[in-house]
Amino acid sequence: MNRAQHEKLTALVSQPVNWQCRLDRYTSLSIGGPAEAVVKVDRRQELQPLLAFLAEENIPWRVIGRGTNLLVKDEGVTGVILILGSEFKTALKQSTNDTDTTIVRVGAGYALAKFALSCMEWGLAGVGFGCGIPGTLGGAVIMNAGAWGGEMSSIIESVRLTTAEGEERIARKELDFSYRCWNGFAAYSGSAVVSEVELELRNGEPNDIKQYCSVLQNRRKNAQPCEYPNAGSFFKNPANDSAGRLIDASGFKGLAVGGAMISEHHGNFLVNKGGATATDVLNLMKMVQAKVKIDSGVYLEPEVHFI
Ligand SMILES: Cc1cc2nc3c(=O)[nH]c(=O)nc-3n(C[C@H](O)[C@H](O)[C@H](O)COP(=O)(O)OP(=O)(O)OC[C@H]3O[C@@H](n4cnc5c(N)ncnc54)[C@H](O)[C@@H]3O)c2cc1C
Repeated sequence: MNRAQHEKLTALVSQPVNWQCRLDRYTSLSIGGPAEAVVKVDRRQELQPLLAFLAEENIPWRVIGRGTNLLVKDEGVTGVILILGSEFKTALKQSTNDTDTTIVRVGAGYALAKFALSCMEWGLAGVGFGCGIPGTLGGAVIMNAGAWGGEMSSIIESVRLTTAEGEERIARKELDFSYRCWNGFAAYSGSAVVSEVELELRNGEPNDIKQYCSVLQNRRKNAQPCEYPNAGSFFKNPANDSAGRLIDASGFKGLAVGGAMISEHHGNFLVNKGGATATDVLNLMKMVQAKVKIDSGVYLEPEVHFI
């Protein structure tokens, strides 16, 4: 970016821009080289003019949530990384004619686990699977995040996108999700931010919902290692099997390449045991994919996104 672009970008947002900012501090794997700029967008009204400016100037950009499903290259990324700030972290309950359900409008920057806990207090059921998933609602929509048989696609009423041109609301019937993916977003990739989501939740008894959430939280504590930085399940589970089981069967638990290691506790957790680079992670990933393909005939598709 040239000087004029620096000045314009700085003027478009209320928060100071972080220039040449390393992204390791924005990812749960603690890996990632610098972006030209990291921009926190606090105000809703800032987002569309910012996207219009980036489009006009042909500056590449990417919005991230909490970076809990991301591997960022060691050499970093060209352009701007956007992060949704305070005005994208609100939740508003809306009254409906239906006494069984409640619609909640949630900003895409809201943390999913925190939102699940709020719903527990409000007596709203359906998002309990999100207790313990450490990303934002925006990331969860893109990933169709889920656990223990629940997933985002089953509770989404609509998604609001912001683009350089304005806002667009996509209703449930037009949304096309599959396992850990909102397929339809590919058509918008690089041009739209998920800015808000409307969820339809069931009205329930706070105590029943609390009990259900605490069962899920305990299961998560037992199943998932958190001894080192990681990005959750690294690979998608193949149909009718588990990536962790296949990786374990190929003898990879505890295997390390540089600072990257397959967790000793969970075969599908690729962890940063200290000083790992993105290259270490990619080399380990390729080794795992090749050996599992030979041993089990299964190609393991990464769940993690690469930027
Ligand atoms: C310990 C641990 C446990 C986990 N457990 C689970 C689990 O049980 N189930 C599960 O599904 N996942 C799990 N994950 C993975 C991760 O938390 C989810 O995929 C989460 O939804 C990602 O959200 P995020 O905000 O961190 O997204 P990011 O990782 O920041 O981004 C993911 C993708 O979404 C895009 N994106 C993010 N926000 C937006 C937006 N507002 N608009 C447009 N694009 C956007 C990014 O560009 C990127 O392509 C786990 C991760 C960790 C570290």
